[in-house]
Amino acid sequence: MSQERRTAIVTGAARGIGAAVAKRLASDGYAVAVLDLDEGSCGDTVEAIKSTGGEALAVGADVSNEQSVTEAVERVANELGAPTVLVNNAGILRDNLLFKMTVDDWDAVLGVHLRGAFLMSRAVQKYMVDAKFGRIINLSSTSALGNRGQANYSAAKAGMQGFTKTLAIELGKFGVTANAIAPGFIETDMTAATAARVGVPFEDFIKAAAQQIPVARTGKPEDIAHTASFLASDGAGFVSGQVIYVAGGPKD
Ligand code: NAP
Repeated sequence: MSQERRTAIVTGAARGIGAAVAKRLASDGYAVAVLDLDEGSCGDTVEAIKSTGGEALAVGADVSNEQSVTEAVERVANELGAPTVLVNNAGILRDNLLFKMTVDDWDAVLGVHLRGAFLMSRAVQKYMVDAKFGRIINLSSTSALGNRGQANYSAAKAGMQGFTKTLAIELGKFGVTANAIAPGFIETDMTAATAARVGVPFEDFIKAAAQQIPVARTGKPEDIAHTASFLASDGAGFVSGQVIYVAGGPKD
């Protein structure tokens, strides 16, 4: 393992936005832990990184489970190097209108997004503090501003913003920044599942969404990867506690 090569952990990196972020950070020169629920599902992302000369490790872990997180982060530190970049990206949807939303729907979403980001950040921060360098990047969403059928998800994504600002305040003196990326509509399995749930073909769903977006297109995972690459960079050390909406237009 090269001493200069920094280690990044990207959660939920088997597919979608997480896979794109993992590949981008690898091409930026980081050794990348590709973490997802099922280690086997990380194979495509890991192979894509290795095939272009990068360094990657598949790690199976449930970010909402304390012991699983502890073991995963220790394994990354031992096999890849002390992690100093963390992208909290793992996520799920359990959409429903409030009157139909179950306690399980609520707990599952808050558990993966918020508890997951808390457990991962707490486990990784000691490596960052030791290194006097760290970058924590949390995936929020435009849904943090409110979205019909997403009481659980919008609460979690708004929570990610407060969590991010607090990490920025607590960890800044150790050279650690914390920022949130709040994507709008990004073409992934997650938005495809939403289209399927409302009974609209994904292509039509994308076209309708694009009509509402000032840059007249929907987002790609690479749009988020580019923003994550910037926030992880050395040059972004004075950017902390921010929420960057990557949504093709302004959001309040
Ligand atoms: P995705 O395609 O559904 O991928 C999410 C990944 O997270 C999956 O590989 C999933 O694994 C993994 N995951 C779920 N629960 C996990 C757990 N407990 N521990 C570890 N990994 C877990 O989602 P995406 O669209 O790329 O979204 C990525 C992030 O961006 C999420 O936080 C999402 O809320 C946010 N976001 C997305 C959009 C969008 O338009 N797509 C917009 C705003 C924000 P399994 O496949 O095994 O479930």
